[in-house]
Amino acid sequence: MTKCEICNSSAISVIQSLPGYQEGSFYDIKYCKNCNTSFADPLAVDENIYNKIYSNAHIVPGYDRYYRFANDVLKVRNPFLFLSEIEDTYWSIYHFVKEHNKQVNPKILEVGCGLGYLTYSLNKDGYNALGLDISEKAVAEAKKKYGDYYVCADVHDFARQNHGQFDIVILTEVIEHIPNPKNFVSSLKSLLSSSGKLLITTPSKDAEPDASQYWNTELPPVHLWWFSKNSFKELASSLNMNCDFIDFTPFVSRQTNYPKLSDPWRTQTLNRNGQVLFTVDHSDIKHSLKRGLIDAGLMTYFKRVIKILRKDTSSIPATKITAILTIDNGQP
Ligand SMILES: [Zn+2]
Repeated sequence: MTKCEICNSSAISVIQSLPGYQEGSFYDIKYCKNCNTSFADPLAVDENIYNKIYSNAHIVPGYDRYYRFANDVLKVRNPFLFLSEIEDTYWSIYHFVKEHNKQVNPKILEVGCGLGYLTYSLNKDGYNALGLDISEKAVAEAKKKYGDYYVCADVHDFARQNHGQFDIVILTEVIEHIPNPKNFVSSLKSLLSSSGKLLITTPSKDAEPDASQYWNTELPPVHLWWFSKNSFKELASSLNMNCDFIDFTPFVSRQTNYPKLSDPWRTQTLNRNGQVLFTVDHSDIKHSLKRGLIDAGLMTYFKRVIKILRKDTSSIPATKITAILTIDNGQP
């Protein structure tokens, strides 16, 4: 590969060679200076790894919380609000749907809905949301758990049959897993109505000043890309789309725990036989306490009190990007 797939620049260098997510695999990490994007080489998905991760989701670090959220949304009174309080990504979607989007009863599609809890939560809050996933197993399980809000299809096939059908298309924590993001986003664009909005969330490089030197996101081939805001500006412009971003300030100003930005070394998670190397315990009491506070509507006050007690007035850099892409209709 000689050119950046996002911005077409040739200003690419190899910055690291890394062992992959599973023991025995190795990747080069390449960096595009022009659009501040890092990516893995080879850019290829390993479906076996996802089977291993999802069959052990409750104990795989990073995925265990998705497993918990999937059960938690059934236990709380307002699941969409619950998700928005617990994680920045869902806060940005909630904030957008409630405050940015002025359209009445928008048709919403969640692409790569996985366990299905966000689509379910949107429906519980009165929205007309459909979840799409390529995994038959994921869709069957989501339908069984939450109801008939899901469809199993390849996104490109689905886009050909549902041209211009959706007012909001949501892609949370998916784009960094995809070998060819431009092609993928191009299909998502064709699903949008003329005033439709595409929301894409992903881990952000922008929070780390030295992120041009190393890879500090899930090891490849699980994450294949690590994006900056510039990556999305370039991606949008190459697809004739406009690009804006959600401002995370209201969310991060309440946070009391600094994310770990100092350790750029990620550990391998699966051994050569595909077994999980470091497991986590999901019966964690801190999490149940958090859920109780959020469900009682007390989380915001709790965090405020903690910050006052610590005399903490600082703000934490956002560790996620939520890009809002819209079709450029050629009007000034
Ligand atoms: Zn580039």
